[in-house]
Amino acid sequence: MIRADLHIHTTYSFDSTIQPKTLVEKLVAHDFIKIAAVTDHDTAKGCVITRHLASAYPDVLIIPGVEISTPQGDIMVLGTDEMPSKPWTVEGVVDFARDRGCVSVVAHPYREYGLGDLAMNYNFDAVEVLNGVSSLSDNKLAQDLAKSMSLPGVAGSDAHQPSELYSVYTEVQASLDIDEILKALKKGLVAVHSVGKSIHF
Ligand SMILES: [Zn+2]
Repeated sequence: MIRADLHIHTTYSFDSTIQPKTLVEKLVAHDFIKIAAVTDHDTAKGCVITRHLASAYPDVLIIPGVEISTPQGDIMVLGTDEMPSKPWTVEGVVDFARDRGCVSVVAHPYREYGLGDLAMNYNFDAVEVLNGVSSLSDNKLAQDLAKSMSLPGVAGSDAHQPSELYSVYTEVQASLDIDEILKALKKGLVAVHSVGKSIHF
């Protein structure tokens, strides 16, 4: 079983102050979260750099990913450092993920830039039901969405500054291996948790 923060922005996102080096250092130092997905806005550069830095530490793992801005809302793709071709449509991004064996995730569906109920029209793999910076009520709505779509729910901090890192995590029944983790996510072998008592649930 592993524990992973599946939604993190580095300085390769226009709105984050988290240096890849800081992300890795805090992962190395963390008591039990040893896996993180780097999901910058519309670029995979951050995950490539972060993966390289993390490769020096055998007990930590960076899952490559990206958070794509479509006109309808944000979508995370976990498991690739490639970018879908433009224009970015919801259907196009979901198909891109499926073709590569990646995991497509409805990011914070009921917050600004979220897909909301529209997500139901597409073939997603998972819904982000616990987002570290979303409100309790937005996360609750996301949980209901996952239930109605019969999809697994995942958790990610959506950290944009170092203090927000690793506030929530997804427990996955898999070992320290990206393919195994992606498969387990799709199968729903997951549970979501918050760290400490400051955050929702
Ligand atoms: Zn985000």
